[in-house]
Amino acid sequence: MSKIKILPEILSNKIAAGEVVERPSSVVKELLENSLDAKSTRVIIEVDNGGLSLMRVSDNGIGMSRDDALLSLERYATSKIYKDRDLFSINTLGFRGEALPSIASVSKFSLITKDEISEAGTEIFVDGGTIKKVSEIGAPMGTMITVRNLFFNTPARRKFLKTVKTEMVHIAEAVANIALGWPDVQFKLYHNGKIVKNWYSSPDPFNRVLDVVGNDMKNDLLRIKFEDNFISGKGWISSHRVSRKTSRGIYIYINGRVVRDRGIQHALFEGYAGRLMKGQFPVAVFFIRVPYDQVDVNVHPSKHEVRLAQQNQVHKAVIGAVSEALHIADRSKWSAENFSGQKPFCVSEPVARYNESIKLKDIPAFSAVQKNLWEEKRFSNLRVVGQFHDTYILCESDEELVLIDQHAAHERVLFEHLKKLSMNSKIEVQKFLVPETIDIGYREADTLEKLIPDLKKLGLEIEPFGGTTFVVKSVPAILADREIKPIILEIAEKMLESGLSQGLEKTIDQCLMLIACHGAIKANQRLSDKQTSALLAQLDECENSSHCPHGRPTWISWTLESVEKSFKRIV
Ligand code: ADP
Ligand code: MG
Repeated sequence: MSKIKILPEILSNKIAAGEVVERPSSVVKELLENSLDAKSTRVIIEVDNGGLSLMRVSDNGIGMSRDDALLSLERYATSKIYKDRDLFSINTLGFRGEALPSIASVSKFSLITKDEISEAGTEIFVDGGTIKKVSEIGAPMGTMITVRNLFFNTPARRKFLKTVKTEMVHIAEAVANIALGWPDVQFKLYHNGKIVKNWYSSPDPFNRVLDVVGNDMKNDLLRIKFEDNFISGKGWISSHRVSRKTSRGIYIYINGRVVRDRGIQHALFEGYAGRLMKGQFPVAVFFIRVPYDQVDVNVHPSKHEVRLAQQNQVHKAVIGAVSEALHIADRSKWSAENFSGQKPFCVSEPVARYNESIKLKDIPAFSAVQKNLWEEKRFSNLRVVGQFHDTYILCESDEELVLIDQHAAHERVLFEHLKKLSMNSKIEVQKFLVPETIDIGYREADTLEKLIPDLKKLGLEIEPFGGTTFVVKSVPAILADREIKPIILEIAEKMLESGLSQGLEKTIDQCLMLIACHGAIKANQRLSDKQTSALLAQLDECENSSHCPHGRPTWISWTLESVEKSFKRIV
C-alpha cells in the first residue's frame, strides 16, 4: 500500500492557516482586504477581547451570491484571477483564494452576504472547517464575516497569543495601515463595544495621513511627488525638525498594498542624506503606483512583500523626490508662513531656564595643580578658552587641551540630579495652567497608559482622555518650556522598543535619561562665561562625569606632548 496520501482538505486548510493566520490581526487584515476588493466604501470592524473571542468585519461591498459564498470557502477559490497570465498582473489585494477557508478551518466562522442580483442573503456557519448550516436570510447588499474562538482547535497556536491588549494593538495597527492607503473608504473600529477610532472617508488623502500619524504633524509634513515613465508616486515626509526613534512612522504603499520594502526605506534615508542622525527615523507616507505587470505580489503568503521589476528606477525616483522636497524646505528656511506659531524642536532654548535648573556658581579661581585631573574630577580648575562651534567647550590645563561636549555634559548633570531628586520624590514640577492635549499612535498610547503612575513620580502627570488622546497636566520643571509631545512620544516609543518587562528601575532610568536629554542645553547654543563655569562645576559633582547617560563621552583631550608631536615640534 502506498505510504503517500493526499491530505484531507480540512487538514490542508489548517496548514495554510499556519502561514496566513498568524494572530487575530492577520484575520482582520485578510477580511479588510476582501472588503476593499469588493469595492466597499464603508467597513466596520468589531473586536472583542483583542480578537480572541470575536472579530467581525461588515462591509457595503458587492457581496456574493449563494453559490459564490459557498465557493469562497473552498481552497484556491477566488474571483480575482482566472488564468496564468492574471497572476502576473494582479490588480486586487487578494488573489490566492486561501484566506477564507484557512480562517474558517481554525475558528467558529459565519458569513452573511448578499449581492445586487440575489433576492435574499445567504448565511453560512462553519465550525473548524466543516460547513454546518446554509440558509437564506434578509440582508442588505454587502458582506459580514464573524470569526469566533480563533485557534479553538489548534491549541498550540492559541498558546502563542499574547495579552488582549497586545493583540488589540496589532489589530489597530493593521486597520490603521490599511486605512492610510484607502482614504476614500470609511473605517470604524470597535473594541468590546466601544469605538476605538472612526476614520472618516475623505477626498483629501492628507486628512487620512494626519488621522494616522497624528494631527500635530500637520505643519511638519512636506509633500512629495514623482513621475517617471511608468511609475508615479506621491506622499508626505517629515521635515528635518521631526524624527522618530523607530521606523514605525514609515508607511509604504505599492498599488494600495501596504508593503515592507527595505529598498524603498533605504532610498528614503538616502534622500535625507546628512539630515538625520544615526538611530533617527523620519515619518513618511509613500503611495507608489506601478503598472500591475511590473510588480510581483506572489512572494509571501501574507502578501507583505513584493518584488518590483524596475527596482532601481523606483529607488532613484524616491531619492530624488525626497531630497528635492527637503532642499526646497531648507531654502525656504521653514518660513513663518509654513510654521506659524511653532517652535522648532532642536533649536537652542533660552538660557534663562538653564540658570534656574542648575544653580550658578561663582567662577572658581584658577589653580595650575593639575595632577590626576580626571581622577579628582577637577573640571572647574580648567581654563576655559572658548566655545567651538557653539557646541564644545574648549579648555586647557597646563598639560592638556580639553574639549567638552556641552549637551552630553549637561545631560549627565541633569540625569544624576533628577535621579537623586526622584529617589526622594522631590522633582520640581511645573503645572500647566491649560493642560496640553496630545494624540499619539495606538501602540504608543497603550504603552504610555501603563507608564502613567511611574511618570507621575517623575513629575510628568498625564491622564488618558479617551482613545489615543492624553492630557498632560504637569511636567518636570526642567522641561517647562520644551515642546512636550515629542518628549512623551519618545518615551512611549523607547519603552515600546525595550519592553516594560525590563523592571521598574530600568524603566525609570530610561525615562529620566529622556527627560535629561530633552531638558539639557543643546548643541549650537552660545553659553555665557557664567554658564560655562557653572556647568564645569556641576560636572565635578557627578558620580560619573566621563559619559552622558547614553554612553557618549562628555569630554576628550590631547596632551601637550601629542599636540607637539602632531606639529613635529618633537619626534
Ligand atoms: P482571495 O481574496 O485571495 O480571492 P479569499 O479566500 O480571501 O481569497 O476570498 C475568496 C473569495 O471570496 C474572493 O475571491 C471573493 O470573491 C469572495 N469574497 C471574500 N470576501 C468578500 C467580501 N467581503 N465581499 C465580497 N466577496 C468576498
Ligand atoms: Mg482575500
